[in-house]
Amino acid sequence: MNKIFLKPGKEKAVIRHHPWIFSGAIDTVMGDPENGSSVQVLDSKKNFLGIGAFSPHSQIRVRMWSFDNEVIDQTFFEKRIDVSIKRRSHLMKKYDDSAWRLIHAESDQIPGLIVDQYNDVLVVQILSSGSEYHRNTIVGALKNITGLSNIYERSDMEVRKIEGLKQRTGPISGKIPHEILIREGGHQFIVDLENSQKTGFYLDQRINRRIVSDYCMDKDVLNVFSFTGGFSIYAAGRKAKKVVSLDSSKEALELAKRNHILNGFSDNEHEWLEGDAFQLLRKMRDQNKKFDVVILDPPKFAPTAAHVDKAARAYKDINLLGFKLLNPGGVLVTFSCSGGLNEGLFQKIVSDAALDASAYATILEKLNQGPDHPVSLNFPEGAYLKGLICLKN
Ligand code: SAH
Repeated sequence: MNKIFLKPGKEKAVIRHHPWIFSGAIDTVMGDPENGSSVQVLDSKKNFLGIGAFSPHSQIRVRMWSFDNEVIDQTFFEKRIDVSIKRRSHLMKKYDDSAWRLIHAESDQIPGLIVDQYNDVLVVQILSSGSEYHRNTIVGALKNITGLSNIYERSDMEVRKIEGLKQRTGPISGKIPHEILIREGGHQFIVDLENSQKTGFYLDQRINRRIVSDYCMDKDVLNVFSFTGGFSIYAAGRKAKKVVSLDSSKEALELAKRNHILNGFSDNEHEWLEGDAFQLLRKMRDQNKKFDVVILDPPKFAPTAAHVDKAARAYKDINLLGFKLLNPGGVLVTFSCSGGLNEGLFQKIVSDAALDASAYATILEKLNQGPDHPVSLNFPEGAYLKGLICLKN
């Protein structure tokens, strides 16, 4: 196996079992490891630290597979997959839901691999060259551990470019339906595996959808960035007086409407608005429209720390509009799924927005990503979703 030697002092993160080694930490690469292949990692004094996947095109030059001297083969992946699924077994017992994130990449000690289960179909997303290198082995391990053979790939993320990989989507094995009807929180949702965003459904909001629905009873609710209507359906399920779902994606809104009908709700209590949230919210503000609950769940404005300034302006803008659209005593539910923007800064932006909207607001609850998207203590970067439920006086 090829070896890499770290610069003096650069072993600290690896000793703390952080999975990433940046290019600047590496002193020497011995041999010519191909993209994604395994390398032994040693410190400057030639002490063995572990085994990782080499990625020559990425700033994250090595992603650690193991901090022991393990063989990276099917048995290795089977063990890791088994542990990941067991990590979620208490959740699967607690909630009668049929869709779960089974593997959350670095946070489950399988860097670059996402696996979501929708009923008896697995959707696999391979984001790093290491996972790509072992693709067939991983698929074999997944089949053995889950007993499922319907596997669809959605490796169509931009980040693959950084890893020197082309995008790839399509069936890997078994029978893949165009749409799947999943169960979540006592509701049904249509998941479009092929054309949808992410792997088809925002599973990370599972618990938050339940929590937020408690605030929607008998209320006028505006769900901005609604996607296929996750928060809207839960709100309707708690007998919201009216729910408005807003999204720029026609396809997502079509599914939101179908989900609405599927769950037996009437059109009278619902409205769907297609368009840009920034423009439509401004228009509603100018028309002096008011709601009791405003939910803001925008896409990632800051994928990395480099985008923070621009993202901060967008978050401020949208939250300011959100506060303006609330009745006194109304509730703003606001999220950021930007990994590049931390919880403290997000809260500061929301407080600036409230100030500019001349609103006095208090935090009722703080929200996070669902527990099937766990955060490893060794990898705090895995915490990306944060939310605040704010009461406006
Ligand atoms: N809350 C949703 C997930 C939201 S994902 C759920 O629980 O399922 C973010 C959504 O924002 C996507 O559906 C995307 O189509 C939409 N979006 C992105 N940019 C937008 C914009 N400028 N205006 C309105 N919607 C936008």
